[in-house]
Amino acid sequence: MLDALQKALEQREKDGLLRQRRLLDSPQAEHIVADTKPYLSFCSNDYLGLANHPKLIAAMQQAAGIAGVGSGASGLVTGHHRYHDDLEKQLAKFVNLPAALLFSTGYMANIGVLGALVGRGDAIFADKLNHACLNDGGYYSLAEFNRFAHNDVAALESLLKTSTAKHKLIAVDAVFSMDGDIAPIPDYLALCEKYDAYLYVDDAHGFGVLGEHGAGSLSHFNLQSPRIIMMATLGKAAGVAGAFVAGQQVVIDYLIQTAKSYVYSTPAPPALSATLSASVNIIAQGDALRAHLYALIALLKAELNLTKWQLMPSITSIQPLLIGDNFEAVRVSRFLQAKGILVPAIRPPTVPKNTARLRISLSAAHSKADVMRLMSALHEAEKEFS
Ligand SMILES: *Cc1c(COP(=O)(O)O)cnc(C)c1O
Repeated sequence: MLDALQKALEQREKDGLLRQRRLLDSPQAEHIVADTKPYLSFCSNDYLGLANHPKLIAAMQQAAGIAGVGSGASGLVTGHHRYHDDLEKQLAKFVNLPAALLFSTGYMANIGVLGALVGRGDAIFADKLNHACLNDGGYYSLAEFNRFAHNDVAALESLLKTSTAKHKLIAVDAVFSMDGDIAPIPDYLALCEKYDAYLYVDDAHGFGVLGEHGAGSLSHFNLQSPRIIMMATLGKAAGVAGAFVAGQQVVIDYLIQTAKSYVYSTPAPPALSATLSASVNIIAQGDALRAHLYALIALLKAELNLTKWQLMPSITSIQPLLIGDNFEAVRVSRFLQAKGILVPAIRPPTVPKNTARLRISLSAAHSKADVMRLMSALHEAEKEFS
């Protein structure tokens, strides 16, 4: 087996697909120290700049002093601390759904929820560009797994029309992590009503950024329905770690009994929940942060004026620049890096073949000057590579 692993790694390197980790020696922020060098970073999902927020650092220190550092046991044994419970109630209220349940990560949430809600005889309908963990959750659930073309409502409808599955669950990213575009969630909800299906929305990149007071994609579309179950991660705009699922009380009660990644897993430390409660307060009062973030997005879209590469259509903080070729994407990323700017090159299998891209992610922590610096480096890169 070890020889096979070595060969597979060598093949990845030949294909320009070998990934390398950078070693960070600073907090996650817009200016970071990676591999011992200072960089202006457009790499993180810390969209509101909360990962290094002084109020949250203080909240974590204080909560650790009160609740200790470990959860100690599964939530169903003695691991469900008041801090967890308070955060669940606060999150449910914030996203305007009856109840919520915390998971240690978004990956675990998707696997747990899909595995619990559907199984043999049921069917999942998933966008082709969904995040990997929704695919894994689908696979693990043993439900029939149907994928439809990206954001293609008609394709989804033709699948639903002919489905004979007992329970039908449409599972989609609300904001696509490598594209930044938003799913047509209202159309999906209409299909749910027409075909007696349910909608599972992964709002990893909408929570904190979109909607009224940052409540996320459901708020952005002003949607409410007992057919909706949502998930959002808490390590992106919320700046900490973890995830929650929210929906009808009966759904949450059922998940507490049956979602294996909840039942058989130790919850994140209670101090993290206390930190997240403080983070949700900042998000809820963060209209000025979001206004600044949207001004930066508008600046990039208005003033980045390239001919060779184009920004993909996105109104969110994820602004991918389509390059196409794997090696060229890496070369442009390295060119920027030599100028002290980090923008990751995203290649297959994370994105479809021939659509390698630079994933520019903007944060409220960036200044206008930061975005201007990125744009002028990209204009130089275009000259260099044409
Ligand atoms: C990041 C992400 C996840 C996984 O969340 P983690 O908390 O990082 O495990 C799930 N879904 C989407 C769409 C994501 O972008």
